[in-house]
Amino acid sequence: MTFKELHISEPILKALSKKKYETPTPIQQQAIPIGLKAIDLIGIAQTGTGKTAAFAIPIIQQLNESPKIGKRQIKALILTPTRELAIQIDDCFREYSEFTDLRHTVIFGGVKQAAQVDQLKRGTDILIATPGRLLDLISQKYISLGNIKHFVLDEADRMLDMGFIHDVKKLLPLLPKSRQTMLFSATMPKTIVDLSKSILYKPSKVEVTPVSSVVDTIQQGLYYVEKDQKTDLLIDLLKKNSDKLILVFSRTKHKADKIARLLNKAGIACEAIHGNKTQTARQRALTNFKSGKTHVIVATDIAARGIDIDNLGMVVNYELPDVAETYVHRIGRTGRAGHAGVAITFCSEEERVMMRDIQKVTGKKLNVMLLSA
Ligand code: AMP
Repeated sequence: MTFKELHISEPILKALSKKKYETPTPIQQQAIPIGLKAIDLIGIAQTGTGKTAAFAIPIIQQLNESPKIGKRQIKALILTPTRELAIQIDDCFREYSEFTDLRHTVIFGGVKQAAQVDQLKRGTDILIATPGRLLDLISQKYISLGNIKHFVLDEADRMLDMGFIHDVKKLLPLLPKSRQTMLFSATMPKTIVDLSKSILYKPSKVEVTPVSSVVDTIQQGLYYVEKDQKTDLLIDLLKKNSDKLILVFSRTKHKADKIARLLNKAGIACEAIHGNKTQTARQRALTNFKSGKTHVIVATDIAARGIDIDNLGMVVNYELPDVAETYVHRIGRTGRAGHAGVAITFCSEEERVMMRDIQKVTGKKLNVMLLSA
């Protein structure tokens, strides 16, 4: 599916192609058509699923296509629990609305209000806010919510956990009754179900299982390691886990061969599989591995697609993948069918940015392990 097939208009398509997004994520595929029809929505999704674009795109498109009359007024409100999320959401609105005339403003507590008030005075179409500062500026009459057409309650469960329920309840009566409301939450405890009943009108529900859910049964470990220490660390790790079947991932075919060569030299029987090997050679390597003749296999992501074994004891990310989701797929090969799973990642200095993305996608901080001297 493409963004165009979701009937997204030209200015937004242009912004998306600048971001180099190729396909809509599952939550976007489901939520955008509902959002564009101005229907109320419950989205069960967590950060990392692309949910921000799932509500931002329909809002931008609807506002951009509605006639502009009179003074600029706040027509969309996005309420989110933390300053970090507010800033991230504001960044998304900036990017996706670049080729429109819409204005957006972000307000949050913990900083002086003057700059935020200045921006509000200049007029804005979309307001992203944390609850406390929003109520504060409303009481000072800098903000009126009387013209809101679209209201998003983001991370509703976190909002409650952080004790914002009273603030949210104070805000609700200030919103016009006729509006589109979209509520996003990673979980749906009873309090959220009750809240959603009171603020949504005949909502459609969309739900995406986070990619990270597959990793919950897997113990994940992380070594910060110099590039040239990786092979020694790998040899050490493999020797200590010689009872397990272990899949080692490299990014390139060349590297897979090199790692396999070095391991064999160190007395660890292993084979590499990648696209340059013949089908017969790959098959043979897999048969040897599955039967336990070899305990270690080194693979590239593409070649590893054929590996489907229930008792894979460990996955080692010798090198990090380019895309965070690939990490989740890699490690999801261990810990299957009730077996204990372990995933160890080697992260060099230049891979740290990637590692941060991965932790964002999986929503987890990995256990950092120390190198023994
Ligand atoms: P979110 O769940 O909204 O915090 O988004 C998570 C990350 O996914 C952000 O870094 C977005 O820039 C990115 N993202 C959102 N939609 C897409 C898409 N369709 N294709 C690729 N990346 C995306």
